Amino acid sequence: MSKSILILPGDGIGPEIVKEAVKVLEHLREHHGLAVELSEALVGGAAIDATGRPLPEDTLAQAKAADAILLGAVGGYKWESLDIAIRPEKGLLGLRAELGLFANLRPALLFEELANASTLKPEVVAGLDILIVRELTGGIYFGQPRGVRTLENNERQGYNTLVYSESEIRRIAHVAFQAAQKRNKRLCSVDKANVLECTELWREVVTQVGTEYPDVELSHLYVDNAAMQLVRAPKQFDVMVTTNMFGDILSDLASMLSGSIGMLPSASLDVNNKGMYEPIHGSAPDIAGQNKANPLATILSVAMLLRYSLGEAALADKVEAAVKQVLQQGLRTADICAEGETPVSTVVMGDAVVKALDAIA
Ligand code: NAD
Repeated sequence: MSKSILILPGDGIGPEIVKEAVKVLEHLREHHGLAVELSEALVGGAAIDATGRPLPEDTLAQAKAADAILLGAVGGYKWESLDIAIRPEKGLLGLRAELGLFANLRPALLFEELANASTLKPEVVAGLDILIVRELTGGIYFGQPRGVRTLENNERQGYNTLVYSESEIRRIAHVAFQAAQKRNKRLCSVDKANVLECTELWREVVTQVGTEYPDVELSHLYVDNAAMQLVRAPKQFDVMVTTNMFGDILSDLASMLSGSIGMLPSASLDVNNKGMYEPIHGSAPDIAGQNKANPLATILSVAMLLRYSLGEAALADKVEAAVKQVLQQGLRTADICAEGETPVSTVVMGDAVVKALDAIA
């Protein structure tokens, strides 16, 4: 049965990079047996211009009906003076909340060909391939009570609440164990169980869930040690799972190991593995419309979409191998170009990936 994918190009470089990713999907449909229907809708600034709202009802309805969503990026100078409640970014947050996308998957991936792009020594990061699974809709970012109060002595005091229920921990743990099963079958759960009762419970529940996945090797690290290990010897990790705030920090740290924002995809999943897939970068208004943007993060987001929402692991592998091949051929957009190299355009890079798909068995 054919699966439906909603395409949301968004703003800035969004339409340019998404166009290249759509070429990949269409090629897989026409030549490699992928059964998908594609439709397109407005989100972010483009939707504000057309309808006055960053997330029109029609877009939300289409997003709810689709099996997966591919998003470019939203935002730009043009909408920066708008009230925060109707800015382009609200479209994205609205989609995450309305679709219940509680699991954020962010790979930190470094193709060996780009090892020099990292600020760490090439031998430490070459071939790096970590997946960070971050809980996205709970924890201290959402816990109540929260606020700033004035004490009896007139001093102000800020406070937030770190809270996780067993069911919230259990569902993110399942996502992480299942992701590990599709990779190298190792999962590291990150907490601060020596200090925070809430994450003591996190550790207990993750360990319980682990008994359902005997094929996955589970380990635990305190978050301070995890941060240190990520910089010291990042290749020891396969999948990491952690809370909203720890994941926020560790996933940014891990993405910088790979040095290039134009290369990294992400996924946000609901309980049924329906997901929204997008590059981790923004709309790059400084280079929008110039055919300069790197489309590979968006193309790698297509690979994640195939793997996690469509169950097409072989095609996902093919897309990732095609990206590797174009890098081996020496193609570089400006953001990953070394001094003296000549950059290729967005379109040339996209076309090269499509061509490489056919060369891979
Ligand atoms: P950004 O990620 O858009 O850009 C940061 C720098 O990286 C810029 O120099 C840009 O040219 C470069 N860059 C980003 N993606 C690239 C690509 N694919 N190829 C080559 N170079 C690339 O971050 P920013 O400048 O802080 O934000 C710009 C706009 O994007 C803002 O409106 C912001 O709110 C929005 N934003 C959106 C998302 C999203 O849609 N998920 C995420 C972050 C920022």
